[in-house]
Amino acid sequence: MNARVPVTVGPQDADSAYDTVARLGNEVAGRLAQRLAAETTGEVLFSAADRGRYATDASIYQVMPVGVFVPRTSEDARLALDICRDLKVPLVPRGGGTSQCGQTVGAGLVIDFSRHVRGVLEVDAQQRTAVVEPGIVLDHLNAQLKKTGLWYPVDVSTSAQATLGGMAGNNSCGSRSIAYGNMVHNVLGAQAWTSDGVLHRFGRFEDAAGPLRALGERVRQLAADLAPEIDAQWPKVLRRVGGYNLDIFRNQNPRPYTGDGSVNLAHLLVGSEGTLALTRSLTLQLSELPRGKVLGVVNFPTFYQAMDSARHIVKLDGDGASLTAVELVDRTMIELSLQNPAFAPTVRAALIGQPDALLLVEFCGADPAALRRKLAQLSELMGELGLPGSVVEMPDEAPQKALWEVRKAGLNIMMSLRGDGKPVSFIEDCAVPLEHLAEYTSALTEVFHRHGSRGTWYAHASVGTLHVRPILDMRRGDARKMRQIAEEASALVRQYKGAYSGEHGDGLCRGEWIRWQFGPRIDEAFGEIKRLFDPLDLLSPQRIVNPPKMDDTRLMRFPPDYRVIPLTPALDWSAWDVQNDPATERTTAPGTGQDPARGLAKAVEMCNNNGHCRKFDAGTMCPSYRVTRDEKHVTRGRANTLRLALSGQLGTQGLVSDEVHEALDLCVGCKGCKRECPTGVDMARMKIEYQAQAGRVQGWSLKDRLIAHLPAYAPFASRFAPLLNLRNRLPALAWLGEKLLGLSARRSLPEWQGRHFFNGAALGATREEALQAERAVVLFVDTFNGYFESEVARAAYRVLQAGGYTVHVAAKQSGSGHLCCGRTYLATGMVDQALAKAGELLDHLLPFAERGVPIVGLEPSCLLTLRDETLALGLGPAADQVAQAALLLEEFLAREASAGRLDTLKQRLKPLDTPLLVHGHCHQKAFGAVTPVLEVLKLIPGAQPQLIESSCCGMAGSFGYEARHHEVSMQMAELSLLPAVRGAPQATVVADGTSCRHQVRDGAQREAVHAAVLLAQQLA
Ligand SMILES: Cc1cc2nc3c(=O)[nH]c(=O)nc-3n(C[C@H](O)[C@H](O)[C@H](O)COP(=O)(O)OP(=O)(O)OC[C@H]3O[C@@H](n4cnc5c(N)ncnc54)[C@H](O)[C@@H]3O)c2cc1C
Ligand code: SF4
Ligand code: SF4
Repeated sequence: MNARVPVTVGPQDADSAYDTVARLGNEVAGRLAQRLAAETTGEVLFSAADRGRYATDASIYQVMPVGVFVPRTSEDARLALDICRDLKVPLVPRGGGTSQCGQTVGAGLVIDFSRHVRGVLEVDAQQRTAVVEPGIVLDHLNAQLKKTGLWYPVDVSTSAQATLGGMAGNNSCGSRSIAYGNMVHNVLGAQAWTSDGVLHRFGRFEDAAGPLRALGERVRQLAADLAPEIDAQWPKVLRRVGGYNLDIFRNQNPRPYTGDGSVNLAHLLVGSEGTLALTRSLTLQLSELPRGKVLGVVNFPTFYQAMDSARHIVKLDGDGASLTAVELVDRTMIELSLQNPAFAPTVRAALIGQPDALLLVEFCGADPAALRRKLAQLSELMGELGLPGSVVEMPDEAPQKALWEVRKAGLNIMMSLRGDGKPVSFIEDCAVPLEHLAEYTSALTEVFHRHGSRGTWYAHASVGTLHVRPILDMRRGDARKMRQIAEEASALVRQYKGAYSGEHGDGLCRGEWIRWQFGPRIDEAFGEIKRLFDPLDLLSPQRIVNPPKMDDTRLMRFPPDYRVIPLTPALDWSAWDVQNDPATERTTAPGTGQDPARGLAKAVEMCNNNGHCRKFDAGTMCPSYRVTRDEKHVTRGRANTLRLALSGQLGTQGLVSDEVHEALDLCVGCKGCKRECPTGVDMARMKIEYQAQAGRVQGWSLKDRLIAHLPAYAPFASRFAPLLNLRNRLPALAWLGEKLLGLSARRSLPEWQGRHFFNGAALGATREEALQAERAVVLFVDTFNGYFESEVARAAYRVLQAGGYTVHVAAKQSGSGHLCCGRTYLATGMVDQALAKAGELLDHLLPFAERGVPIVGLEPSCLLTLRDETLALGLGPAADQVAQAALLLEEFLAREASAGRLDTLKQRLKPLDTPLLVHGHCHQKAFGAVTPVLEVLKLIPGAQPQLIESSCCGMAGSFGYEARHHEVSMQMAELSLLPAVRGAPQATVVADGTSCRHQVRDGAQREAVHAAVLLAQQLA
């Protein structure tokens, strides 16, 4: 058991209880694991890596739990509670683990509800209620509710990964809380176990009976006794989430918790952070889905004016339309967004001149005329406030959506700051009354300046909760600075009569501020509430009551004694090996960050545990998690495993450990995380690094060698095509292949071609001709399209010729070997061989790149290697130059078409009347290269390509061919790709990835085609 953290297991004082558990740790842990395994059906995870993966959440803290339990049913959770009580082991309930204050880290048994206990138990559309289990994710609930025209409106930014149990635990609040309130306003009831194992039905106080009534009566008495203190000390703002909701008996909230003034005991659990009871189910109040929305973007010349106007803008609510959001975007975010080519047009459309801040003002309602009126009133109001002509009206949904995306992305860019200093969340949700917002933000900005830092402000201006994170480096003593800033910020919060904890809860970070906020008597009453519900101090001890110091570095993920095991990486990670300046956010030169792992550790540490990789939306990240829902198989779990390994917390083996192997095993290298993770964690590249390190120590398997060296032996092997292809016809050979090589017998393998692209008649212009031609293109034919599907390469050649280009084929036309990007070597971690192959290819391509001749490729994973991993091989400026010239065929054609240079080709395309389904290869998605495929297909008259909203196809190079991955591979395909293909039997399926086409063939018995083939087919 980790000795860093105090726990309390009984009514003793905290220190002696900790000593007891620490002394007995191994024995208690052993008995706990044994009983959980014997008496429940849940998963019992007690390995160092499993515990490590649950030792952190989106806060700065790390506390190693004694073990992790993943219940399969709520009955399992109850049994675990009983076992913990018997053994006097504290427990910490957990949902998505996205808390920012350390609520879900603790030394006891962490119980993860999110994997299995996530049912929707009941929906009553008439009454607008739903009963759910705690592990269900908000977006998943709302997706299920959509057909009823209802939703659960507490729209937290983490809606794709936050669970209802966790949201209730934290009393979470959404962007639209001004219209809908916080969790506490939208929970009608809860079933929950107190630590004695009794299941209570928390609901209206007047209906309560038995022990629950007695609990409620005592709390009511406390509230009555403390009435003067409550009236004097309690923050009178909507966003107060610190402490327990003692004010259910004496309302202090501008929006009362119930519509009829009654008292609901479930509201006592909301915001209690798992310290009072273990939630079994929640009864939720649903709302009608908004019928229409409009957005007014107000441009302010100064930040102060924006803050000062919020209090006037919120008065525009009512009269046929509700004001649902007033969200801030500050100058820094505007600038960051303008630097991003994808977002710049959207932002520009919202700007008038060069504003210092924007307020995004949203109105909702069913009546379009009322909504239009609201926008007019907003403009009028701004005129009255001295800012005529400052509103950009956005009545249509598409620009609104685009602008909300920009706001999210701006935050992501901020979070992706490299170096040890990180934007830290500890005062980021203080809530102040709107009339003081402007002064509060100015004064806090001053505080930051005094401490050599600065803050980027964003979020909920409507309710006086603005997010801001100063940059701090806990490894270099900034814990003290954090306390100083917190103290000065708290003085401001008090001055302006606000709430110190206004959205993200107390956890380890703000527990000590509860006494400060509410005074000693109310704090003692909180202690009594805790003892009433949990006399054994079993449930999340030391949260809210008896909390630790926020700056106790023993509780931190990066304490001052944090060390990284020195390592020489195979790839170049120096871009991450930097430090930053907290005031300017400028970073030092690559390679100067003093990372003993030369940037690899810092790249891994970019994961701040926000849990976004647990999403299931239209994006790619993270296919393996989508199938297993196991923390070990999500990008966050992998990054945590790597971090723990690199810092020696999993033993002396460092990176090359079984734990790392296990965590990375199901990573398909799709690069979904590279694009979609807010901080750009690139697990695909990290897996290559791991494989390289492991290969150096352990060598490579026969299967890995066979895969890696495919480009080398392909010219020879293709001569025996009929013989080798027997493997797909004779089950005995497939069986043998599985036994000897681990390649699944249930899979067909790509068919060798005796007559392939490289031994056919030489095509195209010579190097010299191309270098001199006016409209030249280099066609880079990869191993897969060259040896297995040469019709794709030939089709691409025909299409380019039809476009009037002089085509030079970069592959050797005959004889031995061809040019190769090194992908198969990278996929197995053979970085040295990949380097050699890539070097050879660059030598050939560089003269073209230097002359601006586009280099066009067909297989996304090969061509895009040139724009990605090749740059990390240390090949210098040549790699950058080639990368800039490297384009997928459709990227090139789309660019040419929009420049008006593709008319010849367009005129030759025959109409198409079959439906088209398009599946994007993961790497295409990661590089934003799917839209060009759709654009190019639309050049075919009559074509209406539909994109399949799919994650990874599950094949991912060799992954899906491996016997031990076959099942997971098929599950990935069945998530959306294969059902979509089966659902459109008439459609032509377009997929540029060789392995994606293979998966469609194996899984749906349909032939998908490369876009090049379709285009060539349509040539008149
Ligand atoms: C980038 C980012 C943006 C965020 N944006 C918002 C935002 O807009 N609004 C907002 O309010 N918050 C926000 N948060 C904070 C956090 O996402 C929310 O508090 C979220 O609701 C937590 O959900 P979760 O499932 O991750 O809960 P967890 O973090 O897993 O748990 C939260 C609390 O609930 C308790 N709990 C969980 N399950 C149970 C159970 N079955 N019984 C009893 N207690 C239980 C836990 O012990 C813990 O105390 C944000 C966080 C991040 C990282
Ligand atoms: S990997 Fe990225 S998305 Fe996942 S938790 Fe870490 S930072 Fe968030
Ligand atoms: S590369 Fe793909 S599978 Fe691997 S962690 Fe990232 S999103 Fe998940």
